[in-house]
Amino acid sequence: MSRMLEDAAAEAAGCTRCGLARTRTQVVFGAGDPHADLLFIGEAPGMHEDRQGEPFVGAAGQLLTRMLAEIGLAREDVYITNILKCRPPGNRDPEPGEIETCTPWLVEQISLIQPSVIVTLGNFATKYVLQTQRGITSMRGAVYPWHGRRVIPTFHPAAILHGGGENSRQFQDLRSDFELISRTLAATPPAPAEPPLAPAAAPEAAAPEAAAPEAAAAAVAGEQAELF
Ligand code: URA
Repeated sequence: MSRMLEDAAAEAAGCTRCGLARTRTQVVFGAGDPHADLLFIGEAPGMHEDRQGEPFVGAAGQLLTRMLAEIGLAREDVYITNILKCRPPGNRDPEPGEIETCTPWLVEQISLIQPSVIVTLGNFATKYVLQTQRGITSMRGAVYPWHGRRVIPTFHPAAILHGGGENSRQFQDLRSDFELISRTLAATPPAPAEPPLAPAAAPEAAAPEAAAPEAAAAAVAGEQAELF
């Protein structure tokens, strides 16, 4: 019998691969449609997520839910997860070793869900998925071909909330990115069950399809190239 997303979630619930296992309340694996065409990847659970066991249930989550509604989607229509499945103490940034240790769960989620469009929320998700050092401000607003799928980076909703909210320029950019997500989803066929692997050194792997001045990130490599 093939492994299902719920099997992976059950196994992850007891994960002790890194030190965050000692401080978390529970693993926040992900939530939503296990066959979603659209996958959102955030940074790491916060206090509310750690308590409730579900990603994006606090203030940032409410903004995400609202942006989804603006393009006619509910949380149940998509799948939402994070780079780290456990809350870093005090909501500090994920450490490189934690990202390395935890992301095999994300890789497995992607290979089980097979989304056709992936939205990376903020710097940590964007840098990991597109293997780039470029910041979110220069990466957002474009569509990147990636392992037979499309990746759209946008601002993390928490950054919008901390940076001026609805009247800010960033909020207008977030809204326009969600319109791009909607258009891209409508134009993208479902991902093939076994998409061709991107060559590890393909320079076009993270060059945008749509206009994004100067955006050109490094190719996807390592575990990513092996597993999708
Ligand atoms: N921020 C994230 O990156 N993920 C969550 O689940 C909540 C807040």
